[in-house]
Amino acid sequence: MNIENSIKLYQRALELIPGGVNSPVRAFKSVGGNPRFIKKGFGSKIYDVDGNEYIDFIGGWGPHIFGHKPDFIIKAIEEALENGTSFGAPTEAEVRIAELICELVPSIEMVRLVNSGTEATMSAIRLARGFTQKDKIIKFEGCYHGHSDSFLIKAGSGALTFGVPTSPGVTKGTATDTLTAKFNDINSVKDLITKNKGQIAAIIIEPVAGNMGVIAGEPDFLRALRDICNEEGIVLIFDEVMTGFRLAKGGAQELYGIKPDLTTLGKIIGGGMPVGAFGGRKEIMLMLAPSGPVYQAGTLSGNPIAVSAGLASLEYIKNNLQVYNDLEIKSNNFVLKIKEKLHQIGKNLALNRVGSMLCLFFCKGKVRCFEDALNSDTQKFSTFFNYLLNKGIYLPPSQYEAIFISTAHTEDELNYTVEKMEEAFKIIFKKE
Ligand SMILES: *Cc1c(COP(=O)(O)O)cnc(C)c1O
Repeated sequence: MNIENSIKLYQRALELIPGGVNSPVRAFKSVGGNPRFIKKGFGSKIYDVDGNEYIDFIGGWGPHIFGHKPDFIIKAIEEALENGTSFGAPTEAEVRIAELICELVPSIEMVRLVNSGTEATMSAIRLARGFTQKDKIIKFEGCYHGHSDSFLIKAGSGALTFGVPTSPGVTKGTATDTLTAKFNDINSVKDLITKNKGQIAAIIIEPVAGNMGVIAGEPDFLRALRDICNEEGIVLIFDEVMTGFRLAKGGAQELYGIKPDLTTLGKIIGGGMPVGAFGGRKEIMLMLAPSGPVYQAGTLSGNPIAVSAGLASLEYIKNNLQVYNDLEIKSNNFVLKIKEKLHQIGKNLALNRVGSMLCLFFCKGKVRCFEDALNSDTQKFSTFFNYLLNKGIYLPPSQYEAIFISTAHTEDELNYTVEKMEEAFKIIFKKE
């Protein structure tokens, strides 16, 4: 595979941008090799600056549930562009998307738009603190909630990939207000609450974790969290930046039938443009400025171009709810075929899937929490990743990220991927 132009661009980028990229995992550091500079995408495929074609399993890290460049999103953006790019004044599209969000996600009674998932979680936590007048929060090891200070404590995603789950630059004061519990372990939560009685503002969780690989919250565990939050007056926040509109129209909370107090959204809600949102119980949301005292703002929040793409996505979802069933069947078949290949060569790797999010961990046994995920052989994952990349299959360049299936992936593409995975397994496990 010729990647000359990507190599040249990377060299230039390294001089100008720390690590050559604007978000860490893009740099391929944990898997080795030169990152591909992407020129364009269409449907399930992306194309790099040397003209190589890849079946894309990153989907822009989550937004592209319909693949790249779907007609209805491009059309909506083009129409919005006719009217200008930004006004810093309210627009009709913001009201329409708020109505749709509240309709699709019933726990959300009011919503505020922001520009990223990070902003959504950061603001939701401030709001929960303002509402409860308490300072501490509980998060879970390996969960990722964006890169604001409070969350870079035992975080997942790139922070985990690079072995700095707790980042320098986060003050001790901030760190002491973030307590970390073990995913799927309710006793670890109860312990923290007992030791910090009456001091906890919020518990934030990815109900299906997608940033330490993919790990589903167990239904009993999530229900117990809901109960504890009710008993203790703690705000329960579901971070559905990844799972919102991905696992169901109403996100993971719809699958589990659990209503959080606040929900954070991102990725799909922007249809590939920078949009995030947080919303939930009216009583809490009304604490937000200008209706209440908790400050939150944004020059480009609710940007009309970005919102037009998000609105087109949510409208499409509302009118095509069968996409979730289709994705479920397609993703399940894909996973079953991979498992069959593994079985044939006598290997039993952990393969977690919820809907169209999945992760193949290079370790045996169940992966139910962060510690389990850390048993993965990341060296083997690197070999796997690079073998597939050279066959035109673009997986996330980290063991700890989710593989996404979109409505654009064809059966042929998925079968080709399984075939190449089998070849990779044979190389990886040859000596064992
Ligand atoms: C991606 C992600 C974020 C951060 O969103 P950004 O738009 O990257 O800031 C937060 N929480 C979860 C669960 C995510 O997957």
